[in-house]
Amino acid sequence: MVTPARLPVIVRFLDQEYFRPRFAPRYPPAEEMVFTILAQNTTDINAGRALAALHEKYPGWEDVARAPVEDIAGAISMSGISGPKSRYIKGSLSALLEEHGDLEMKFLEGMDDREALDYLTELPGVGVKTASCVLLFALGRPVMPVDTHVFRVCKRLDFLPEEATREEAHWIMNAIVPDEDKYSFHINLVLHGRKVCKAVRPRCGECVIEGLCPGAIIEY
Ligand code: SF4
Repeated sequence: MVTPARLPVIVRFLDQEYFRPRFAPRYPPAEEMVFTILAQNTTDINAGRALAALHEKYPGWEDVARAPVEDIAGAISMSGISGPKSRYIKGSLSALLEEHGDLEMKFLEGMDDREALDYLTELPGVGVKTASCVLLFALGRPVMPVDTHVFRVCKRLDFLPEEATREEAHWIMNAIVPDEDKYSFHINLVLHGRKVCKAVRPRCGECVIEGLCPGAIIEY
């Protein structure tokens, strides 16, 4: 798949607008996986609160893996849909523990990005986005998650077909975004989606990439 000529220019404009972030691990891999599961269908603030509640209740992630699902659900209630999330958290952590004896995920070092993605998406509750977050945010590997903001903004920018699913969007974006831009582009697209290219009434008149955006809404 060919990188559209506009894409590197847009990356640069967003870097100038929001700053080009240098990679720094957000959490260790298992914690990143738990955080991303907690963040499903809620805000990062609520997910952060639920993560803090797990830290308070359990000494380590191995203890969470061994805890009853109902107890985990009680601790993370502020993140919403705590029933499924607690099953996914316990299921994914205990599968890793059983298979590898610890939760450090060092085994990922012996896998290429595609193998690592395939392995992680076999874990309970871990989809392509969660697996991508583990690889990008914990390990700095060039795998770009497509979350709700990236998905919406990239459709408006015409990098994705209107009918593309989230999973299709993942493969398209990872094919067209150069590896060295995946970290900064993801972070800046999320910022841009929150601040300017909002789901309802995008602020195209204030947008630094308006001139490069086929989806721009011109208001007179
Ligand atoms: S011009 Fe409008 S639609 Fe396009 S990226 Fe900017 S805010 Fe979004």
